Amino acid sequence: MTLKNLQSIALEYGCPVYVYDAHKIQDQYNRLKNAFHEVSSVKINYAVKALSNISVLKFFKTLGSGLDTVSIQEVKLGLEAGFSPKDIIYTPNGVAIEEIEAVAQLGVQINIDNLSILEQFGTRHPDVPVCIRINPHVMAGGNTNISVGHIDSKFGISIHQIPLLLRIVDNTKMTINGIHMHTGSDILDIDVFIYASEILFETAKHFSDLDFIDFGSGFKVPYKEGDIETNIEELGEKLSSRFHKFCENYGREITLAFEPGKFLVSEAGFFLTKVNAIKQTTSTVFAQIDSGFNHFIRPMLYGARHHIENISNPDGKERFYSVVGYICETDTFANNRRIAEINEGDILAFHNAGAYCFTMSSNYNSRYRPAEVLWYNDKAHLIRKRESFNDLVNNQILIDLYASG
Ligand SMILES: *Cc1c(COP(=O)(O)O)cnc(C)c1O
Repeated sequence: MTLKNLQSIALEYGCPVYVYDAHKIQDQYNRLKNAFHEVSSVKINYAVKALSNISVLKFFKTLGSGLDTVSIQEVKLGLEAGFSPKDIIYTPNGVAIEEIEAVAQLGVQINIDNLSILEQFGTRHPDVPVCIRINPHVMAGGNTNISVGHIDSKFGISIHQIPLLLRIVDNTKMTINGIHMHTGSDILDIDVFIYASEILFETAKHFSDLDFIDFGSGFKVPYKEGDIETNIEELGEKLSSRFHKFCENYGREITLAFEPGKFLVSEAGFFLTKVNAIKQTTSTVFAQIDSGFNHFIRPMLYGARHHIENISNPDGKERFYSVVGYICETDTFANNRRIAEINEGDILAFHNAGAYCFTMSSNYNSRYRPAEVLWYNDKAHLIRKRESFNDLVNNQILIDLYASG
């Protein structure tokens, strides 16, 4: 989509507004799929928590994607969007066994990452096949340095606990139909990813009923020029041939699965905001926008650097600004950033606003959450209305204890 498209969306729907380019989502999906074209069965399960609008989920369905979910509510959003339960995998952490049972009842693939839960679940439901989430204890320590770490991570079942895991499976007579890892943001390097995969293959050998191996995600996308980006094509080449060898030894073809969030939606998203005021202090020129960490928290929470473009004056002379929000809290989006000259009323577009942006928004300062727009087939489609005052008071109960007397 073009700058003009973004400008007209800001005009039509007002700011702040999130915009997602469906074509970019499709490109990323196909890129990942193509990178693994040599594997006969590849399944991509989009990680719902990155961006959970049901129209976006439905778009993923048209691409042939499945879903990766972390809560029963995300599962229900997926069902609402038309997914079949068998195309959803549920990978919770630290949730109650009752929720896991409720999700299993819906027919969704369960992924368990805790031996205590595994034993309870296997005892009660030996006929429900489950996937297990392994913690391979691999992380990248800069460049190609591989170190074994994260011994105290709350995620996954440690590879050092495999003997106990096998005993539980044996005792309960449950079926393990998948092996999974998701190493999060630790893995930047393809060789490290392959190294972790070897551990997964090693673990997989213990189980004879596998339908799939799920390699999780953690793929990097560029946020600014020069950023490291996971070379998906190289990963595809290396992992495909390794996976092929595994299947040969295993005796049959199984499915290779991934569950990316950021890779699929980050770059497709733009967050459009309006500049309320320019404020010059003794040291700084602030551009104050009609948003804050209530709508877009990644810069403050993770120190994430999102490119900011002045789409009202894209060719203007560049000057230095600190871009800040309107809430009563430090909410700095960018410090001393070079941006095309900003005037009050200009529209600033934040790039890479597809993943973990709207889904992390809140009502702090009693502001409304923004609208969401999907750009599809050269047209803008409103997929979530901006909130209204009613949304703020809807669940509140005004009690009547204060009457005098
Ligand atoms: C968050 C999450 C993902 C997606 O991670 P990205 O970095 O957005 O690709 C995948 N799998 C699980 C289990 C997750 O919790």
